[in-house]
Amino acid sequence: DLIKHADSAMYVIKGKHRNYYNLFESSISENFKIMLTMEAELRKALRENHFELHYQPQKDLANGRVVGLEALLRWKHPEKGYISPAEFIPLAEKTGLIIEIGDWVLLEACRQNKEWQERGLKPLTVSVNLSARQFYQPNLVEKIKNVLQKTGLQARFLELEITESMAMSNEEEILKTLYELRSLGVLVSIDDFGTGYSSFKYLSVFPVTKLKIDKMFLDDMQKENRAIVKSIIHMSHSLNLKVIAEGVETDEQLAFLTREQCDEMQGFLFSKPLPADRLLKFLV
Ligand code: C2E
Ligand code: CA
Ligand code: CA
Ligand code: CA
Repeated sequence: DLIKHADSAMYVIKGKHRNYYNLFESSISENFKIMLTMEAELRKALRENHFELHYQPQKDLANGRVVGLEALLRWKHPEKGYISPAEFIPLAEKTGLIIEIGDWVLLEACRQNKEWQERGLKPLTVSVNLSARQFYQPNLVEKIKNVLQKTGLQARFLELEITESMAMSNEEEILKTLYELRSLGVLVSIDDFGTGYSSFKYLSVFPVTKLKIDKMFLDDMQKENRAIVKSIIHMSHSLNLKVIAEGVETDEQLAFLTREQCDEMQGFLFSKPLPADRLLKFLV
């Protein structure tokens, strides 16, 4: 266990300072302490139900309707308030806690989506983010099958988001998992598209259903980025994939995406991620 922790500490330190060997011992043990505290707190949060899902609506650009929701994890810390997943997912991934946290996220997202459907809301797809470690679990497909059975949610209303780097490595295993997921009827999207190392070869072979254009390309709408967004949209369509733009914040971005026939959008311009009760009001 100690080795695991030391490894986590080094991972964070390296990320922060680039050169681990130049660090003074004090800051190493400082970081080490922070990691240990955070890990203990994460375990406690799991035990005491301090996680929450917020839902960000996704809009169909052709008809203006909400078609999906991305479930985004929040840690409701008793003293520090809401903590963003960006701050704790890397450690959860390192320590393996992500498996338990991820199981909870999957179950909760499906349960909540089914509940909304039973209340008579128009059926929507709920997207769940999978971390690498979750995606590589040998029993992932079995788990997902169980969650769907347990909650009664139809598979076509669940979408899994994986990143490029996860999909593009260890070809055979991944392909097998993706095919099994698709044969369940679950949708699979590639998140943060354009930031990794995708190749056209993989894209045409992997049975995914949607690409999510990373916010980065919209932040700066220079000529080059516009050209990249355009080609991602056109490529998606020629591969029969849906395409969604994330992090849309301005009318200018929206107009551009509509003009280029991007299928869907998600971003603060339309709505921030909302807790379940506020999302319900937003939809009604
Ligand atoms: P992501 O999957 O790329 O999620 C999109 C992030 O962009 C979310 O941050 C969302 O709140 C934010 N966002 C959405 N629209 C806008 C916008 O218009 N402008 C700006 N500036 N930001 C926008 P969030 O919720 O803090 O999540 C951060 C990352 O944490 C996610 O990035 C995802 O990689 C990870 N994450 C979130 N929930 C989960 C989860 O349940 N499991 C796992 N494994 N990872 C998760
Ligand atoms: Ca995502
Ligand atoms: Ca993303
Ligand atoms: Ca991201």
